[in-house]
Amino acid sequence: MLKNIYSKIFEVVEGCAALSVDDARAILDLDQLDTFELLAVAYKFRKQHFGKSVTLHILNNVQNGLCPEDCRYCAQSASSSAPIEEYPMKSDDEILAEAAQAYAAGAGRYCMVFSGTGPSDERIEHLTRLIREIKRRHTIEVCVSPGVINAVQARQLKDAGLDRLNHNLNTSEQYYRYICTSHTHADRLRTLEAAHSVGLAVCSGVIVGMGETFEDVYGMAKSLRDLGAESIPVNFLIPIPGIALKEAKGLTPEYCLRILCLFRFLNPKAEIRMAAGREMHLRELEPFGLLAANSLFLQGYLNAQGSSNAKTIQMIKDMGFSIKSDVPIDKLLEQADAPCTSHALKGIKELRPYKISGV
Ligand code: SF4
Repeated sequence: MLKNIYSKIFEVVEGCAALSVDDARAILDLDQLDTFELLAVAYKFRKQHFGKSVTLHILNNVQNGLCPEDCRYCAQSASSSAPIEEYPMKSDDEILAEAAQAYAAGAGRYCMVFSGTGPSDERIEHLTRLIREIKRRHTIEVCVSPGVINAVQARQLKDAGLDRLNHNLNTSEQYYRYICTSHTHADRLRTLEAAHSVGLAVCSGVIVGMGETFEDVYGMAKSLRDLGAESIPVNFLIPIPGIALKEAKGLTPEYCLRILCLFRFLNPKAEIRMAAGREMHLRELEPFGLLAANSLFLQGYLNAQGSSNAKTIQMIKDMGFSIKSDVPIDKLLEQADAPCTSHALKGIKELRPYKISGV
C-alpha cells in the first residue's frame, strides 16, 4: 500500500480517487512515510496553486472575552479562568485605525473577530458599515468572524463587500462533544452552509492537539473538502494557563508538518494557514510548514502572542518566498518590530493600541 500512496495522492488531488482513512493514517503516522518526501509532494500542489507567495493575515479581537459558550480550548470561554483583557466591541475609530495599521504592515487580509455566540441584527448592520468603510480606504480583503449567523445576515455581509466569513469547525463531528457542550458541530456547519448559500467565501479552521485521533484529523480535513472551504487555518493548541484543556497532546514538529500535508492533499486549492501555535509546536521546523501552507498570521493570535513581525517576515524571505502585499518585503522588514518569541498573554497595549482613554 505504501508503495502506491504517492500516486494515490496525485489521483486524490485531481479528484479521481478518494483518500481513505488508512491512507490518511499512513500520511500522519511517523513510522510509515518520510515526512520530507510528503512535504515535497505537498509543495508541488502548493506551488501549482499559489506559487511561492505567502498571504499574511492580521486578527483583530474587536470584542474580547465575556463569552457564554464553553469551548474548552478558548481563553474567552465561560469555562476559562485565563486572565485575559475583556471588553465589548471596540469603537469604529479604533477598528479603522487598526485596519490602516494592518494594511501598512503588509497584511493581505484583515479579520475582525468577535467573541460570543453570535451577533444581533443591529450588530450585523453596524458591521456592514465598517466593512464598506475599510474597503473604501484600503485595498485589503476583509474577513469577519462573527459567531453563529443565518442566511439573511450572511447576505447583508456579502452585499457590504465582505470577502470571507470565518467560522471554525475546530474538530471532527465525533470529537466535538469533548471540546464543547454548549453548542454542536452541526450548529457550526449550519453557519458555514448559510454563508455558502449566499455565495460568501468561507474560512473554516481546525485546532489540533486537543486529544483527537488520526481519524478525527482526517474527518476534519475531509469535512472541509466537502464544504469547499476556500481558507483553512490549522491551529496547534496553545494551552494558555486557565483554559480547560491543560496541555497540547501528541503534537511533535514532524506530526504538525504531516497534518499540514494532509490538509493540502485533501484541499489542494484552499488557502491553508499555519496558524496559532506554529512557533510553539513546529519549533525549528516551522519554515518547512510553508511548503504545504501558503498563509500565516502576523502579530500573534487571539489572546496569545506569537513571533514578532520581523521574525515571521525574515522566515518567509529566507525560504525564498514572497509576500502578497502592496508593500515590498524589504520595506516590511525595515519597519517590522524587534524579534520576540514569547507566548505571554497579550496585554491591553497589544489588544487596543488605538483606544482613546475613557472610551
Ligand atoms: S471559541 Fe468563540 S464561541 Fe467558543 S468560547 Fe471562544 S469566543 Fe466563545
